[in-house]
Amino acid sequence: MKLGTKLIHAGVEPDPSTGAIMTPIFQTSTYVQAAPGDHKGYEYARTQNPTRHALQNALAAIENGKHGICFGSGLAATDAIMKLLSPGDEVVASSDLYGGTFRIFTKVFAKYGIKFHFADLQDASGLRGHLNAATKLIWLETPTNPMLNIIDIAACAAIAKEKGILLAVDNTFASPYLQNPLDLGADIVVHSATKYLGGHSDVVHGAVIVKDDELAQQLAFIQNSCGAVPGPQDCFLVLRGIKTLHVRMQRHCENGEAVARFLRDHPKVGKVYWCGFEDHPNHGIAQKQMRGFGGMISFTLKDDSMDAALKVLSGTHLFSLAESLGGVESLIGHPASMTHASIPREERLKNGLTDSLIRLSVGIEDVSDLIEDLKKAIG
Ligand SMILES: *Cc1c(COP(=O)(O)O)cnc(C)c1O
Repeated sequence: MKLGTKLIHAGVEPDPSTGAIMTPIFQTSTYVQAAPGDHKGYEYARTQNPTRHALQNALAAIENGKHGICFGSGLAATDAIMKLLSPGDEVVASSDLYGGTFRIFTKVFAKYGIKFHFADLQDASGLRGHLNAATKLIWLETPTNPMLNIIDIAACAAIAKEKGILLAVDNTFASPYLQNPLDLGADIVVHSATKYLGGHSDVVHGAVIVKDDELAQQLAFIQNSCGAVPGPQDCFLVLRGIKTLHVRMQRHCENGEAVARFLRDHPKVGKVYWCGFEDHPNHGIAQKQMRGFGGMISFTLKDDSMDAALKVLSGTHLFSLAESLGGVESLIGHPASMTHASIPREERLKNGLTDSLIRLSVGIEDVSDLIEDLKKAIG
């Protein structure tokens, strides 16, 4: 089955009790048993919920995995993956990371004796130098946030396999429409479904997708034992979002390209970061592992001051100043003071994240209105 069909049909069945074509929101905490232990596969809603079950199956299908495990947020999904590890274990993570991921690694899990190394993995062969006998997990984000660097997933997967280390890929920015890390050899895919999967900025949700049965069992054990499960209403919203992922992503890509090219030609704009440019340092890898280049763009101004950036940030009307990304509406953000404020400034600058960097999540509005909005704001 092709992705466009899978997105609409995978994981969902008409409700057996009514025939409802849309998966009902099973807003219940428990399920009645005919006799002790005689039940319909559902005992208690932290452990199983039919709405969540449908979503988990849909996610597994669209990432070409076997098992989906859902959580109350993207970071709750990351939290569950980290709980696969033990004190003394080490993690190598790509250095240009979502701020909240950097925070949970360094401020929460470092306390429990897990050691983190951050490495620029744009040249995947450099990965070897960061591994040792204690390395148990490699963590990648690609495209990276907010610099839109691309990391070669297949090359990292080959090294991980050779060394027997798990490879997790945060696929939030690409979404399963643009990239399927499990097909490239990754062991674990993580999503903040808050972003493109939900797609309408109306839900916070996270997911992990794997192929391996044993890994899935361990993650489901953590999901049930630690309890960071999403509510059924939130699962419903993500299920609904997934059904239009392909048409939304098509438009995000088209609009993203038009906005990236407009910015690049603008005399007041400095650098434009978008992996679809032929001269992007890793464009070749993007072309190889992605089916399109998405709607996430970062750029700087020639006047590289905070003030100039703030003027643009407060000058747009269609691009709303807000954290988050991946919704139908366009957003504009300032990573240094917003999404990435939890990363120390020296660390940010090392990755090229300057104080004037502006990040866009290009939505699916009419692109001529979006460009007009930016034109006025940049002046
Ligand atoms: C938003 C985001 C997360 C965290 O997800 P939440 O749903 O906000 O907890 C993780 N990774 C990336 C790339 C994100 O953009």
